[in-house]
Formats: sequence, structure tokens, C-alpha cells
Amino acid sequence: MGDFSLQLNEDQITLRDWVHGFAEGVMRPVAAEWDEREETPWPVIEEAAKLGIYGLDFMANLVSDPTGLSGVIALEELAWGDAGITLALMGSSLAAAGIMANATPEQMGEWLPQCYGSPGDIKLAAFAVSEPDAGSDVSSLRTRAVYDEARDEWVLNGVKTWITNGGIANLHVVVASVDPALAGRGQASFVVPEGTPGIRMGQKFKKMGIRASHTAEVVLEECRVPGRCLLGGKERLDERLARAREGKSSSSQAAMATFEATRPAVGAQALGVARAAYEYALEYAKERRQFGRAIIENQAIAFKLVDMKARYDAARLLVWRAAWMGATHTPFTSGEGSMSKMFASEAAVKITEEAIQILGGYGYVRDYPVERWHRDSKIFTIFEGTSEIQRLVVARSISGLRIQ
Ligand SMILES: Cc1cc2nc3c(=O)[nH]c(=O)nc-3n(C[C@H](O)[C@H](O)[C@H](O)COP(=O)(O)OP(=O)(O)OC[C@H]3O[C@@H](n4cnc5c(N)ncnc54)[C@H](O)[C@@H]3O)c2cc1C
Repeated sequence: MGDFSLQLNEDQITLRDWVHGFAEGVMRPVAAEWDEREETPWPVIEEAAKLGIYGLDFMANLVSDPTGLSGVIALEELAWGDAGITLALMGSSLAAAGIMANATPEQMGEWLPQCYGSPGDIKLAAFAVSEPDAGSDVSSLRTRAVYDEARDEWVLNGVKTWITNGGIANLHVVVASVDPALAGRGQASFVVPEGTPGIRMGQKFKKMGIRASHTAEVVLEECRVPGRCLLGGKERLDERLARAREGKSSSSQAAMATFEATRPAVGAQALGVARAAYEYALEYAKERRQFGRAIIENQAIAFKLVDMKARYDAARLLVWRAAWMGATHTPFTSGEGSMSKMFASEAAVKITEEAIQILGGYGYVRDYPVERWHRDSKIFTIFEGTSEIQRLVVARSISGLRIQ
């Protein structure tokens, strides 16, 4: 286990500054435009791919840092640029994480590059778990996967909802129930490769925030994929199902494994939005004059900024700790991963709201970015496990009881 240090090494500083340059120079100038357009920002993704910020190598570089900090540092900088565009860039990595959590090495070699494509030939990927009647309760998925032994194919049927890049992705990773009687333990993950018949986009959602990220339903109708698309392979699945039927403990559920690994990363994005709002409000408060003095000279405003900064710093410490614990395989004895996501997302909502207050009327209109940051911040308390679900995870960890 490595020592925990808040001192970034040279590689991490270089990474941070490089990603910050992209966030400031490429993302910030177009953030409002893509928020209004509510479309996937293809030119930004293309530019990111050219620079090496969108792609498998970038992701591999982030996850291979033994301190765990590279990933959260880079994500904070990207989200400081714009949270919606960040998700447009990172949606594919959610699917890649779903593949890495369950795939054999051969499957990783085949599918991971296809999640990103290459400059000039960009590919997107989507990770489809949530359903209309199964959001927080991922154990109750209704999407079915049935094995057709004669053709060595899996047949998928069901509806997924709220899927980032859903229906526009080249590759979808779909979590489905193989044996509904086993609930969460009867599920498996499947790759639906590009060009597979039977998968289509349903409704595209119009959202409150992160509007540069595409969110839609995915409909699966007699969608057939080859046997090799079952992540982890049939043998491993059969063993797992047999253990579950005997009532023996099994490895963690496919979907939960992915969510657990990505929670500090969500917290890091919340940090980026919070920092953007804090910095903007601080500068504004020094310049805006009322009653013959800068508004920051009033304690009411200065103290707000103090609380915003303290919340942000505390959230960052929790996120960095959780990222370090994950990378060093330190046991999460108090749900520290969930705690970091919960605290950072709620901090971002509060900090962005206070930023609007500091800007007054100017904070409430779209000519200034803080209302967008507030709208964007709210998603972090909802997806990849709501704040309530994070609290459940922490409550169960600290109590050892099955808190409901
Ligand atoms: C923009 C966006 C992008 C998304 N991207 C993806 C994606 O790419 N892939 C994907 O699979 N999913 C995605 N999601 C889905 C997201 O993960 C779910 O919305 C989330 O898990 C909550 O599920 P739900 O919306 O069904 O809410 P519900 O589960 O119905 O929850 C409703 C409310 O009840 C509370 N609640 C539920 N159960 C409990 C309990 N036991 N105790 C206390 N409170 C409880 C919740 O906290 C919440 O406040 C996305 C969602 C959004 C909005």
C-alpha cells in the first residue's frame, strides 16, 4: 500500500495543467452553445481525440496511476470546463468500465478500443443498466437475456432508460437478467456491437442540465448477439448462477461492481463544477459595488465565500481519499467511495446555488454561467446512485446492519 500524499507528483501536475488548458481553451468558450443546442458536441470530442483526451490510452493512463489521483484530478479539470461536455467525453468510459469489471482479457482487447475509435473515426459507447421500473433498485431489472444454444446467440429484450449516449453509441454494454428468480445475482453484462439489428433509440430526454450529453431510452427487441458478447463468458456465468442457486455467496453483481469503482470519479466532476462557481463568485464579489463598496466587503457575502471554499476543500479531500483507497485496494470500511460522491455532489449543488445568490439577478440569467453550473450540479446527486442510496451504503458500512 502506498503512502497517502496530497503532494502531486510531476506527472500529475503536467496532466492537470494539460487538461486544464483544454478545459479553458476548448470547452469553456463553447459550453453555453452546446447547453442550448442539447446535442452531442462532436467537434469537441473530435478535438479531444486529436489531443489525446478522448480515447483508450487516456483512460488507461488515468486508471494506471498507483496513487489513484490522476483520474480525479483530470475529471475535476474537465468538469471545471463544462460538466455536460465532460459527460459527452466520459460516457464511453462508463461502458469501458463496465467491460473492464466483467470481461475476459480477450474481450477487453476486442471491445475496449471500439468504445472510442480514433481521431477521424470517433466511436461512442453506452452503459445501459437503468430501466423505467428499476433505477435505484438495480436488482429488479426486467430486460431479459435468453440463450439460444442452437445458434450460440443471446437474445435480448427490454427497455433501458436514462442511458448516456443511448441509441447513438456504436457499442452498448447492456446489463440484463438471465435468471429473474435470482434477482441481482441472476444478471449478466452483454456487448451489443455496432450494426446489431434489434437495438434502437427510444425517447431522447430534454434535461435540466448537462445538456451537451445525450440521454435517451434504448429499446431492445429480439436483439441477437453472438455468444462471445457475454462478458466473462458462458462458463463463468454458469458457475456463478449455480453458486447463487445453491445459496452460496457470489461475486458482486455486475452492475454494482461498476458503480462502486466509478463513484469518486463522479464526485470529482462535482468538484469541478463547484470550483468553477466558487472562483467566478469570488471575482464577481470583489468587483461588484453596491452602497459604495465591493459586495465582498460585507460579511454576509464574504462568509458565504468562506463556506463555499471550506465545503469544496472538504469534498476534495474525501474524493482524493476515496480515489487513493480504490487504487491501493484499501478496504472501504465506512463506505468512503459513496461518502465522497454524496458529499461532493451535495457540496456542488449548495456552492453553485450560493454563487447565484452572490451574483444576484445576474446569477439568474443565461448571460452568466452560474445558473448553468447550478443546473449541471444537480445531476451528481442523482445518477450512479442517488444521495439516499449513498447514505444507505455508508449506513450499512458503519453499522454492519441491513439498514433499509
Ligand atoms: C442524465 C442522466 C444520465 C444517466 N445515465 C445513465 C447511464 O448512462 N446508464 C444507466 O444505466 N443509468 C443512467 N442514469 C440513471 C440513473 O442512474 C438513475 O436515474 C438513478 O439511479 C436513480 O434511479 P431512478 O431515476 O429510477 O430513481 P428511483 O430509484 O425511482 O428513486 C426515486 C427517489 O427515491 C429514492 N429512493 C429509492 N430507493 C430508496 C431507498 N431504498 N431508500 C431511500 N430512498 C430511496 C431515491 O433516492 C430518489 O430520491 C442516468 C440518469 C440521468 C438523469
